[in-house]
Amino acid sequence: MTLSERDLKHNWHPYTQHKTAQKSIAITKGEGALLWDENNKEYIDAIASWWVNPYGHSNKFIADAIYKQLTTLEHVLFGGFTHTPAVELSEKLMEILPNNQQKLFFTDNGSTAVEVAIKVALQYFFNKGEKRTTIIAFENAFHGDTFAAMAASGISFFTEAFQGMLIDVIRIPVPVKGQEHISFQTLEEVIKNNNCAGFIFEPLIQGAAGMVMYEPVSLDELIRICQKNKVLTIADEVMTGFGKTGKNFACDYLSEKPDMMCVSKALTGGTIPMAITTFTQDIFDAFYDDDINKALFHGHTFTANPTGCAAALASLALLQTPEMQANIARVHQNHLAFQKHIESHPKVTTTRVLGVVFALEIKIESAESYYGTLRNKLYDFFIENGVVLRPVGNIVYILPPYVITDAQLQKVYEVVENALEIA
Ligand SMILES: *Cc1c(COP(=O)(O)O)cnc(C)c1O
Repeated sequence: MTLSERDLKHNWHPYTQHKTAQKSIAITKGEGALLWDENNKEYIDAIASWWVNPYGHSNKFIADAIYKQLTTLEHVLFGGFTHTPAVELSEKLMEILPNNQQKLFFTDNGSTAVEVAIKVALQYFFNKGEKRTTIIAFENAFHGDTFAAMAASGISFFTEAFQGMLIDVIRIPVPVKGQEHISFQTLEEVIKNNNCAGFIFEPLIQGAAGMVMYEPVSLDELIRICQKNKVLTIADEVMTGFGKTGKNFACDYLSEKPDMMCVSKALTGGTIPMAITTFTQDIFDAFYDDDINKALFHGHTFTANPTGCAAALASLALLQTPEMQANIARVHQNHLAFQKHIESHPKVTTTRVLGVVFALEIKIESAESYYGTLRNKLYDFFIENGVVLRPVGNIVYILPPYVITDAQLQKVYEVVENALEIA
């Protein structure tokens, strides 16, 4: 039996309807931007394995740091204890986070980072004796799959089975070109008519919605409206963090600063699951009290796992090398050139680029759903041609590891262009 066949027996895969899904491709090796399956077929990982892997697969520098940490101190509980990698990581992150961010809380994945941010927003007002229980989020947002994160997410078929069991979330339109004022106005109205605790958003790029982009000046305006009304702002940088937008964080494009940030995905270079929620001093102070009940009663067994912290430290060091920064700029330039080449293609309605993120929308006759036939046809075509891309409906996006070579990137563009012929 092949690995793919053995897998079917016990493994339940994410976002998968197993009755209609094909067998999973069994990957046995990865290096740089490449993956190999059990038949030795080669694939270019053009989405950095769900956006976690900017420095390439099986990165030796990160692996060495992990090995060294594993043989020094693999884990110790973070309740009542601390350790070198956590302290050093907090110091290193402070150097690159917006300077109003002062405190870090560790969890294990993007959803829990968001979960903590939302709980903190709600408890912040509870601790101050103010009744504020509504969270504001964008339409078509994606913030994860745990309960509060799912409530904040607006992609309906992910959450429809749980309606009525979720926290109160009110949605506002994304300030994409032409919709800015509706977005600002709706936010003002929502805040006026509800007891709003926080506003959570994916800064500048809505990843799961299909790399929907909007301008920093618009987000600045939304943040200012929140500040005026003392609504806490939460930047979910789980996808955008660590260079994806061309800067360390999408928030680096802003004039305003969020009250909280969530990071995960690329934090450890795709090695060890880890996430961090960051906070201003003001937020931390709302929990700092002689009354134990004002503390944040949240934690996970593997909180601030030393091995994860060591992987994050190594990843940050890689991100900050001139070579990696040059890679980010190089991928961006390639994207711009491809955009110029493809934007007037008759099958393309629109293209967008920010940092290492490229997206194009394919012209379709009728509305196709996320798991529509076009999407599956495209996905299969990409896999056949040795490129891992996961279109969202009729949107094809590329978010490659920064270390992808120009030749590999050209192959991805070629396959995308050829795919337009079958669409
Ligand atoms: C992926 C993602 C999450 C959820 O992270 P998980 O690690 O999958 O739980 C949350 N927010 C954004 C913006 C994401 O892209």
